[in-house]
Amino acid sequence: MAIRTGAQYIERLQKTPREVWLRGERVGDVTAHPVFRQPIEQIARLYDMQHNPAYADVLTREGAAGRVGISFVPPKSHEDLVARHEAFRVWSEATLGLMGRSPDFLNTTVMAFAEAPEVFARLGQKYADNVQRYFEYVRDNDLFLTHALITPQIDRSKSGSEQAEQFLHMGVVRETDEGIVVRGARMLATLAPMADEMLIYNLPGLRAGDEKHAAVFAIPIDTPGLRLISREPYDDGTRNTFDHPLSSHFEEADCLVVFDDVLVPWDRVFLHGDVALANAMYADTSLRQHTGHQTGVRGLVKMQFITGVAMKLAQTVKIDSFLHVQQKLGEAVAATEICRALLVAAETEYETTPTGSVRPRFEALQTLRMHLSSSYPKVAEMLQTLGAGGLLMMPSAEDFGSEIGPDIAKYFQGADGLDATERVRLYKLAWDLCGDAFGQRTLQYERYYAGDPVRLYAANYKFYDKTDSFRLVDHALSLAGDPVEAVARARAAAGE
Ligand SMILES: Cc1cc2nc3c(=O)[nH]c(=O)nc-3n(C[C@H](O)[C@H](O)[C@H](O)COP(=O)(O)OP(=O)(O)OC[C@H]3O[C@@H](n4cnc5c(N)ncnc54)[C@H](O)[C@@H]3O)c2cc1C
Repeated sequence: MAIRTGAQYIERLQKTPREVWLRGERVGDVTAHPVFRQPIEQIARLYDMQHNPAYADVLTREGAAGRVGISFVPPKSHEDLVARHEAFRVWSEATLGLMGRSPDFLNTTVMAFAEAPEVFARLGQKYADNVQRYFEYVRDNDLFLTHALITPQIDRSKSGSEQAEQFLHMGVVRETDEGIVVRGARMLATLAPMADEMLIYNLPGLRAGDEKHAAVFAIPIDTPGLRLISREPYDDGTRNTFDHPLSSHFEEADCLVVFDDVLVPWDRVFLHGDVALANAMYADTSLRQHTGHQTGVRGLVKMQFITGVAMKLAQTVKIDSFLHVQQKLGEAVAATEICRALLVAAETEYETTPTGSVRPRFEALQTLRMHLSSSYPKVAEMLQTLGAGGLLMMPSAEDFGSEIGPDIAKYFQGADGLDATERVRLYKLAWDLCGDAFGQRTLQYERYYAGDPVRLYAANYKFYDKTDSFRLVDHALSLAGDPVEAVARARAAAGE
C-alpha cells in the first residue's frame, strides 16, 4: 500500500477497536471521542502532507517498495541525513514541535532495528528475520507505532524481578507453541490510543535475574488483553481554540499499558530472555542515533517556537526595551542556536555502519538530548517571568462579544495601540505553552523524553572519551614538574 492518507489512517483506527480507558470508562470508537478526535486529526494531517505536492518530495521517497516515508529509508550519505532532517522539520513544524511522538519517530526505530540484523541474529537468525519482516510490514503499510519502555514507578530501588510481585513490571509469563505470553505493566505510551501498533523494548539497566523482563516485540494495538489506561486529559474536547490554541489541537494522550496475559506470536518476537543482549541492543543498533536525530530536529523546532513567543510577547508591551529582558531573550536565542549547531555537527561528522549506511554522530545528539532537558524548561520559565501577571489576567473569548467588550478593547490593548484581540490571543498562546497543564506536560516532556537527565549526564561523564582532556591536563602538570626542582629553579631565577 505504501504511503497512507489521513482518511486511511482514521479508517484503520475505526476498524481496530482497542481497549482504551479514560476517566473510569471504556472508550468506544476513539476517532469519535472528543478527547482523542483532535490529536487524531493532527496525525491524519501529517499523513495527508505526504500526498501534498508541496511536501511529497521532502517527506517521501520512491523505491523498490513503492513510495514510502523517508523516515523508513536508511541514509547512505551526508545528503541523505540532511534530507531526513528536512522531512523531520516539515512534520515538526506542522505540530510546532509539540507532538513528540509523531509517526516518524518510531519509523526510524524499526528502520534502525532492520539495519542491525546481526544484533538480533545473536539469539538466532529467526529473530533477525522477524525484525526485517516487521520493518517491511510497518513501512509498506505506513503504520503508526507507539512504544512503552519504562516500568511503572512502584519501587525504583528494586529491579523488575525483585518487585513485590514478579509481574508488576511487564515480563514473559510463559512460552507456548504460538508465542510468548506477557503480563504486567509498562508506561508511558504517548499517543497509544491513536496508534496502530505497540513496540516494546528495554532501555539498558536490566540486571541478572531480570531474564523474564528482557523482551523486545511488537503487537497490534487491538491485541486481546492489551489495556490502555489514559491519563486525565488537559482538554476534554470542550476548550475553544482562542482560549487554548495549543491544548485544543496538540493534546497527546499518555497511557499506562497493562498486559493481561497477552499472547505475542513468535513472528512478532525480536528478542527475549537475554539480559545482556537486551541491554546491549540500544547501543549496538543505530537506534539512539536515528531517534536522536528525529527528536533533535523536533526539539529545535519547539525551541524556535517558544523563543518566538517570548520575543513577540516582550514586543507587545515593550518590555524588550529593558536590558535584562534583552539579555534573557538573547539567552533563549543562544540555546536555540546550540540545538541547530549540534544537529549540523551530528550530520556533518556522521559515522558509517557495517551495512554501509550512515548515522549522525552520537555524542552531538546525546549532548542535544541533555541540552534540551535543561534549556527548554529554562526558556519556559523565562516566558513565565516575561509575561508575569499578564499571563493570568487574560479575559475569556466570550468577553469580547459581551457588553464589557469596550473595557476589554481598552484595557487589554498593547503598546502603540496594538489591538486587544491580538494581544490577548498571543498571551493565551503563551499561557497554554508555559503555564497551563498542557504547557507543564510539554515541559515535562522535554525534561524526560530521552530518559532521566540525571542518569544521562552521569553516563555522559562515564563514557566520555577523556583522551584529549587528559592530554591537556598532563601537559599542564608537566609544566608544574617536581616540587624540589621547581623551588630550586625559582630560587635560581630570583638570584638567591
Ligand atoms: C510527557 C512524557 C512523555 C513520554 N513518552 C514516552 C513514550 O512515548 N514512551 C516511553 O516509553 N516513555 C515515555 N516517557 C517516559 C520517559 O522515558 C521517562 O519519564 C523517563 O525515562 C524517566 O523515567 P521515569 O519517569 O520512570 O522516572 P524515574 O526513573 O522513576 O525517576 C524519578 C526520579 O528518581 C530518580 N531515580 C529513579 N531511579 C533512579 C536510579 N536507578 N538511579 C538514580 N536516580 C534514579 C531520577 O533521577 C528522578 O529524579 C515519557 C515521559 C514524559 C514525561
